[in-house]
Amino acid sequence: MKTLSASLKTCPVLVKEGRSQDSFCADEVDEEPPGKPDDIKNLEDEPPSSNHRSHNNLFGEVPEKLWKDWKWHFRNRITTVEQLNKFIPLTPEEQAQVKLVSRLYPLAVTPYYLSLINPDDPEDPIRKQAIPSILEVTMGAVGFEDPLAEKEDTVVPGLVHRYPDRALIVITDICSMLCRHCTRKREWRKGGWVRTDDEIEAILDYLRKNKSVRDVIISGGDPLTLSSRRLGEILAKLRAINHIEIIRIGTRFPVVLPQRIDSELCAMLSQYGPIWLNTHFNHVREITPEAAEACDRIIRSGTPVNNQSVLLRGINDTVKTQLELCRGLLRIKVRPYYLFQCDEVQGTEHLRTPVETGTKIIEGMRGFTSGLALPTFVVDLPNGGGKVPLQPDYILSKSDTELVLKNYEGHVYHYRNPEKGCPEANSWVTGSPLERVEKIVVEQEVTHVSKVFEDADRVIVRS
Ligand code: SF4
Repeated sequence: MKTLSASLKTCPVLVKEGRSQDSFCADEVDEEPPGKPDDIKNLEDEPPSSNHRSHNNLFGEVPEKLWKDWKWHFRNRITTVEQLNKFIPLTPEEQAQVKLVSRLYPLAVTPYYLSLINPDDPEDPIRKQAIPSILEVTMGAVGFEDPLAEKEDTVVPGLVHRYPDRALIVITDICSMLCRHCTRKREWRKGGWVRTDDEIEAILDYLRKNKSVRDVIISGGDPLTLSSRRLGEILAKLRAINHIEIIRIGTRFPVVLPQRIDSELCAMLSQYGPIWLNTHFNHVREITPEAAEACDRIIRSGTPVNNQSVLLRGINDTVKTQLELCRGLLRIKVRPYYLFQCDEVQGTEHLRTPVETGTKIIEGMRGFTSGLALPTFVVDLPNGGGKVPLQPDYILSKSDTELVLKNYEGHVYHYRNPEKGCPEANSWVTGSPLERVEKIVVEQEVTHVSKVFEDADRVIVRS
């Protein structure tokens, strides 16, 4: 692993020795400063002008040009309780709690994502995903550090190979925002790292030799924290491996910093398809005009966008919130793909829901919205057991000949279960067309028999 520059002084996660100038986009930020003093404190002194617009009450004075500059957002992430308190009023007790939790699980929120929070609502669903809760510590003993046992399936550093035909590249642990429910929270304490050139070469070498792998997922951390140029180099090398058919990228940038989805990135992605981009919207309030435009730009590059949300207590754990989210996603052409049961990760227990909550939500959605808007509810099993889809139980009873099924309204229906194979078909094969039709007619007691016999080859037998 290569650790990062101390240049991002606002982010304790990224304050590390060494540099990674060729890979991490924040270093390019240093080479291309936006021109103005870029910390929020300084911006507070800058007078509003006609170029300013209200990004809401929290960041109303930030110039439009900077607000559209994802590098500015990244560089000005809110990472201390003092910065946070300027935007979200916290009681002294809350400040002490955030400070305490941040020592174990750091805080990092982009100004963009923070601007979506209603500062007056302590139960705000955006706030709960971004701002540390004392419950991360007080309930922190519950769960596992690495619930999916990714370490055990790591075949070379940064490559998890669990399923025969798929492999996961963990390219960095850096994210634009640190989501409180993250499965890889354990990585936050290690500071910011990006895979070195040698590590990436070892990953590629493994993939070249393992011809069963046809689907590679690049995740992290967030792979879009790499510069578009660096990510493009890695994609080009993956594309040069003939047996790799599909590349998937997992990123939360469209949700937490949609300004990152710029024309340079989209042009690069369009060169290396088929690429599928999986993103992570959890609540309809995250579907802003900026997020919609970002998804539109990705889709227009020829990259389909799917959503993988996590079921979170008090955030999106009702039929109403999931319906709003999934319908909103379809409106921006993003397919709801998975709804994950929140993993058994230490520091997330307060956000986890009973499994039945998920199946009840799916049951409540089915029939009341298009099947396209229905994600698959899945549990990722501990110890590397893999994903198991969970569905409401619609089968009340079944036999070889009949199923008793319940529909979305709770009405009960009997459904004839066809026999395995079709014994009648074999006898038909040996007969002439006329004999076959005669058999159908006799058995079904169809009227107008004579007409059928006259023109057997042109008969249409309706069921
Ligand atoms: S963006 Fe993904 S990997 Fe990064 S902190 Fe959020 S959930 Fe974790």
